[in-house]
Amino acid sequence: MEIDRIGHTRMRFVDDEGGFTTPAIALAILLACSLIFISARGAIIGSRSGQIQYVADAGALAADNIVAEFVTIGQIVDAVLLSMSLLGLSVYAVSAVAAFIPGAQNAAAKIAQAGSKILQARDKFAETATKGLNTAQKALPAICAVRAFEVINANASASGIPYAGAAITSPIMGAEVSLADDSEVEEAAEEIESKHGDIQEKSVQAQDAQNRENDAKHRAWMADCGNAGMSMFERAGHLSDISAANNPHYSSADAWNFSIPLERAEAYYAARYYAEAGSGASGSPDTIAESVARKQFYAYARDEVSQGYVETTDTGAQIPHLVQLARNTEQIRSTSLYTDAIYPISSSNGTRTIHAYAGCPGYSSGSPSGYGSVSEVDSGLVHICEHCRFSATTLGRVPSASTSIDNGFEYYYLAVVEASKDYAQAVEDGEDAKRHLKESRESIGNSLHEALKALAAKRYDPQPPGRYGCICVVIAPNTQLKDTPFIDGSASIPARVAISGATLAADPADDEGNIISDIAQGLVPSENLGSGLLKLVFGAWGSMLKAYTDGTEGIKQGLDKLLGAIPIVGNTLSEQATQNFKNALSDAGLEPADLKSYKPVIVNTSRIIERDGGKAAQIIGHMKQAAAMYSAVSIGDIGALIEDIEAVPEIQELLDEHGLTIAEIPLSDLGVGNGSKKLYLPVPMDISSRLEELHSLLLSTAAE
Ligand SMILES: [Zn+2]
Repeated sequence: MEIDRIGHTRMRFVDDEGGFTTPAIALAILLACSLIFISARGAIIGSRSGQIQYVADAGALAADNIVAEFVTIGQIVDAVLLSMSLLGLSVYAVSAVAAFIPGAQNAAAKIAQAGSKILQARDKFAETATKGLNTAQKALPAICAVRAFEVINANASASGIPYAGAAITSPIMGAEVSLADDSEVEEAAEEIESKHGDIQEKSVQAQDAQNRENDAKHRAWMADCGNAGMSMFERAGHLSDISAANNPHYSSADAWNFSIPLERAEAYYAARYYAEAGSGASGSPDTIAESVARKQFYAYARDEVSQGYVETTDTGAQIPHLVQLARNTEQIRSTSLYTDAIYPISSSNGTRTIHAYAGCPGYSSGSPSGYGSVSEVDSGLVHICEHCRFSATTLGRVPSASTSIDNGFEYYYLAVVEASKDYAQAVEDGEDAKRHLKESRESIGNSLHEALKALAAKRYDPQPPGRYGCICVVIAPNTQLKDTPFIDGSASIPARVAISGATLAADPADDEGNIISDIAQGLVPSENLGSGLLKLVFGAWGSMLKAYTDGTEGIKQGLDKLLGAIPIVGNTLSEQATQNFKNALSDAGLEPADLKSYKPVIVNTSRIIERDGGKAAQIIGHMKQAAAMYSAVSIGDIGALIEDIEAVPEIQELLDEHGLTIAEIPLSDLGVGNGSKKLYLPVPMDISSRLEELHSLLLSTAAE
């Protein structure tokens, strides 16, 4: 049946098998019902003059339904553009996350390629949609007129009354469709791609620094207390009476830090200092001199070690600064041990001699001559005593053996100091790399933020012809009623006219978002995607379409889905990047789209005319007056009304058996199949000839 056929073609926006539920379907059913209702009434009611108003209503609704379809298609175009930009942007964000993983640079590049393909497909879709929507807008007055004409004809056939009519869109022109580019998304994508190499390099550096840091810490811990045999811990316990509290043990490096050996060494040298008899020692003068040297060395070591400290940077990293001790006579010469003028000097016959202590027999054999340092021996100012033989060499012997041989405390302390230098360098290198990575992360985060903000602002709001409404004019000539059951054969119905208007009314529908998502997803069929990276990527498209309806939440979910789908094993650096990018995207605050569905409703035509103010509106105004006064309209008015409804030849190249191509996704460009998947506005192939038919029938009926 005629109505069914028309109603059916209308349901299909995509050239797929299987229908999509759209508001337009519900309306088509409604129209079919109202038409049957009219013809049923026509058979039993004597006066059919009232019916013409129903026919005009049905025509106006049918015309306005085309406008509703255009608006729905516009919403789909907007959803596809936004969600593909979001998908491309998010895929690039994931590629950046991968770049933060040492060794994942190739994966990052491949992911970015997938992002690039998506953005290219988005651009192609936008390009075709700009052309398709503009062409459809030009053709919309003709399509609406023909659609109303078909409904009026169907009523004429059903009732036996030769109704003729047409609908006009108000206004007759649409606003030029100019779909925004996604230049900010492209910029963010470019920035991310250009930073891959640098991020990777710094990530490798950071990881290398971390490895060196761990290694140095382990070595230091081993020398301090980790070794099963000798260590600072073990030597301190063995060689001094250090308290257990001052000589702690750590069974692993985890809880250990560089303050431990620092404090241990301080306590050790203090203990050694107090325990060493020095000048009060007993024995031969050179034995006592050795005790004096040891006591001096311990005092020096305690003071030097306590100069060490552990610095905490503003990022919380710890950098040890431990002081290395002189390990032999040569090194003693550059310390205070060499220059401290604290040793007694005797004078005899003009010769000055230095002693380790005042009790030396050599000292008492001369006369006291003040104090001096061992450096004075080297400079020839004083002589070495033949009894105590005290000199820089005596001092140098203290650390010499214990530093070189692994049974000395100094041996292990030196190992800790050397490891601490490696550790400090590694921490500084790591901090440097991390600072660099943080800058990259923040810079990318800002670009993502800006791109999303721009996307949120660049939305397509359909402004087609007929956005104020559609007005349908139906005329019927004076009709003799013949061969009609129950009706007197001589009865006739006078010529009459009806004018009706329909406009789109918002109808908040719960599933409008799902309808749009379903139709959009049909554009990239999952069976085409195979099993590669692109399939994983498009797995998140649904979430991005959800972002169209849910705003920010949808993006977060999409990003999570992408991160979950793409097999990259993260580390701390990439987790930070993930968090950074997620925050950047959610802070940009994408608002959910206005997802009202629109359906035509009958309104008083004056509400449409007063918004329009164009030529057609003036004619309709004139017609309404004439119809009210004479129940007729002039053929001149009819002619003027429809003269601007013209066939639009340029739609021919976009028309096929499915309808008018509004936009296409180039599947072959995506590498997921051949050709393109198209989004259609249902339009009959023979629109031009239908329009001619409309013109001639309407004018001839008006002339009767
Ligand atoms: Zn002496």
